[in-house]
Amino acid sequence: MESEARKQLAQLTDNRQLEEFRISFLGRKGHFTVIMRQLGSVAKEDRPRMGQMANRIKGEIEKLFKEKSAALLASAKTETDAPDLTLPGRFPTVGKLHPVTQVMNEACAIFEQLGFSVAEGPDVETDHYNFEALNIPAHHPARDMHDTFYVTDSTLLRTHTSPMQARIMENKQPPLRVIAPGKVYRCDSDITHTPMFHQVEGFLVDKDISFADLKGILTVFLREMFEKELPLRFRPSFFPFTEPSAEVDIACVMCDGAGCRVCKKTGWLEILGSGMIDPEVFRMVGYDSEIYSGFAFGLGIERIAMLKYGIDDIRLFYENDQRFLQQF
Ligand SMILES: [Zn+2]
Repeated sequence: MESEARKQLAQLTDNRQLEEFRISFLGRKGHFTVIMRQLGSVAKEDRPRMGQMANRIKGEIEKLFKEKSAALLASAKTETDAPDLTLPGRFPTVGKLHPVTQVMNEACAIFEQLGFSVAEGPDVETDHYNFEALNIPAHHPARDMHDTFYVTDSTLLRTHTSPMQARIMENKQPPLRVIAPGKVYRCDSDITHTPMFHQVEGFLVDKDISFADLKGILTVFLREMFEKELPLRFRPSFFPFTEPSAEVDIACVMCDGAGCRVCKKTGWLEILGSGMIDPEVFRMVGYDSEIYSGFAFGLGIERIAMLKYGIDDIRLFYENDQRFLQQF
């Protein structure tokens, strides 16, 4: 029986056959049970010797059974670790543009469709273009509006993209339709401000340009950007380089004007600053303000991205947490 058991164990190849083996040799109705029952019919003096022999062989077969069981388990494991050639391949992660870049590109595309050309200028700007040429002379109180990073006494990190107005108007004659996107810098940091952020400056200069043209362009832009019809509200404001000036509010995109936490229950959100270009700015670049008029506006890209995607902390854009960025 021992040699028969060894032979069968050596031949079996799976757990089902192993279980059949266990039942036939070691089970309740197996060969051993039968033998133990037959011990009663053996001569009395032979019984202990027969019993011992049976137990020794049973122990031996149990040991062989355990070894075979472990060997089958090990080979099954090796099989699972082997490559499954039917699985689909792994795709490398594809990089995406940062949400701020996406919204910036979108803003530029909308203005380009409206006939604006795109101009880019230096981040390190002179005091002249950042302030003087925009009707903000030294000691003008408006300079307090910007906490400026100065590089030297006369150069600085631009506090807005408006310097491009003066740079372009100096070199070109109207009609002009230009947007200037880019990074701007102010010494400010909290949940709605970062020391570096993105603006799109836009201006249009031609004959007979009025506030109605400004309103028309901004209405189209905001409708395209937020993909819905949005009521606009112009509030009188002050900027040294526009006269008159207005801040533009849109109906809150979170609550559709009903009032919520984001709009502080007012139903309106401040979205950009704008106005008719000040005749003094025209005078400095040699345009005749009796012939030409124009408007300018500046909007914050992070602000628009936050409202478009319902983000309540501007700093998320700059923490580079993949879990945040991959949502866009
Ligand atoms: Zn609201």
